[in-house]
Parts: sequence; C-alpha cells; structure tokens
Amino acid sequence: ELAKNLSSLQAFIDDLYSKYESLQDGVVANYIPELAKVDPELFAISIVNVNGEIYEVGDYQQLFTIQSISKVFVYGLALMDHGRDYILTRVGVEPTGDAFNAIVLDEQSKRPYNPMVNAGAIATTSLIKGSDATERLNRMLDMFQKYIGRDVFVDISVFTSERTTGHRNRAMAHLMLNFGMIDKPIDEALDLYFQQCAVMVNCHDLAVMAATLANKGVNPITNEQAIKSCYVKDILSVMYTCGMYNFAGEWAYKVGIPAKSGISGGIIAVVPDKMGIAVFSPRLDARGNSVRGVKVCEELSQRFGLHLFECS
Ligand code: GLN
Repeated sequence: ELAKNLSSLQAFIDDLYSKYESLQDGVVANYIPELAKVDPELFAISIVNVNGEIYEVGDYQQLFTIQSISKVFVYGLALMDHGRDYILTRVGVEPTGDAFNAIVLDEQSKRPYNPMVNAGAIATTSLIKGSDATERLNRMLDMFQKYIGRDVFVDISVFTSERTTGHRNRAMAHLMLNFGMIDKPIDEALDLYFQQCAVMVNCHDLAVMAATLANKGVNPITNEQAIKSCYVKDILSVMYTCGMYNFAGEWAYKVGIPAKSGISGGIIAVVPDKMGIAVFSPRLDARGNSVRGVKVCEELSQRFGLHLFECS
C-alpha cells in the first residue's frame, strides 16, 4: 500500500510546498547575528527512501548550519566510542519538559537528562575520542561525511559567533564539570560542540542522513555504513522521546515518528525501514521548532499513515 502511495509522494510534497509557502508564522533564530541574517522565506522538503529514491521540492540545495540536529549523530559516535552502558552513566534518556537550553541536571544522578538538549549534547560531545582537538574534530567530520556522502565543513563565522556568545552553554558545562559529568577541559568540549552545530548541510543532505537511520545505519545512496546498526535503536528511541524539545510528547502523539529539530529551521524525521524526511524553513515557534516543518511532517504522517502505532 505504501509503495502505491509513494508514487504520489512527489505530487503531495509539491502541494504541501505551495500550501505552506505563504505561512509566515514564527520568528527566525536571532541569538546570534549570523543566524538572524537568513532569508526567512527559504523552504524545502526532501524525502529519501531506503532504496535511495529521492523526492524533493524548493530550496533543498541551500546550505545552512545543522545546529541541534547534529546532536543525534554525535550521540551515535559517542555510543560507538564507548558503548551503551558507559554512555548511560554520563547522559540520561529522560525527556525534560523544559526548553532545549535549560540549565538543569537530574537531581539524583547529576547527569544531564538526555542527549537531545544542550546540556546532554555538550556532555556527549565531551566524550568523543581523539588524541587532541584536531583529531576529535576530524573524527566528527568523518562521521558526518559517512551519513551525508560528501565532504563536510564548518561555517567559521557561525562557530566563532556561537563561541563568543555561548555563555549559557558555558554555564551548563561548568555545572557538569562541577558534578564530574564532564572530566575534560570544558573549553575543548564547548569548541567541539559549537563546531558540530556549525556544520553546513542542506535539506537534501538531512534527508539522506535521516534515511541512513531509517536504513539501519547504511547510507542508501552510497551504501556506506555510517553507524553500527545496533545503536540506531538507541538513537531513534531518544529522538522519539526527546527530539522535539518540550514539544516531544505532542509530536509523538500526533506525528508518531522519531525526529529532531534545530534552531536554524531544519527538522529530520525517520520512518524505520522506509524513509528519511527533512524539512527546512527558518521561522520557529516558541519552542524552537520550524513552524512550516512541523506542519509538513504532521500532514505527511497523516496522509501516508507513518505514525508508528497507526491503526491499519
Ligand atoms: N547552537 C545552538 C545552541 O547551542 C543549538 C541549539 C539548537 O539548535 N536548538 O544554543
């Protein structure tokens, strides 16, 4: 049934594009000038299925910084570096119900709640292996490269600007250093975190990355294994419960597929064994999720019955 429906997928996303093109609700992220400069009208929808077939519309070649969507993939790298048990001692898997940049740790364990919010992501990033900062950055870029299928680079202006203004993230890192949840020099961990947020992608890349997760860790275009398949389960679980910040519950209820959003306006959603979906549109709602992105995913889920617990 889905296969038959998929033939109408291109037509459907074309219609969604026209329908939401005029929607101007929300505001572009403005916590750093580099992000505020973006054209708010940019809009793209890309879908890549596990057979490597591509459906896309709009500005899907427009590059932007990946921001929080990077957290998903860096969590995967940390899992490969240390294994599930150790990572669990450093980062929890509990949704917060708070904003993505909340300065809060679990009362008992002192762990950050989960790897999809800033505190947890900074802790995760601090665990990436490598003999020095350059090697850690290169390992991270290699990892992204496998998911994307081409060379990746960091936007230096965004990185520098995040680093000079990131006092809140620095405060979280200090708090975790205090509780022994980070045991390295925090400036190196923060630099790597700001670098991962400033990796340049386009909407097409994000769909390929999501499709790689849908395809048990194998990039469906290049056939390269980007992540061990056993860790895809961990990644998708935290995406499902924590990926949309304090909208995660409503998202799980309505859209029903693991997803992750970023402050530059991207959203990825993973339909296991079927496809990866990406939407890019910079205007955000109050929780920091792309307004058009949420709408498009809601409609796609409904139209094609993508909710994990869909009644057949
Ligand atoms: N660079 C941003 C930050 O650390 C990422 C946050 C986001 O995309 N939600 O604040």
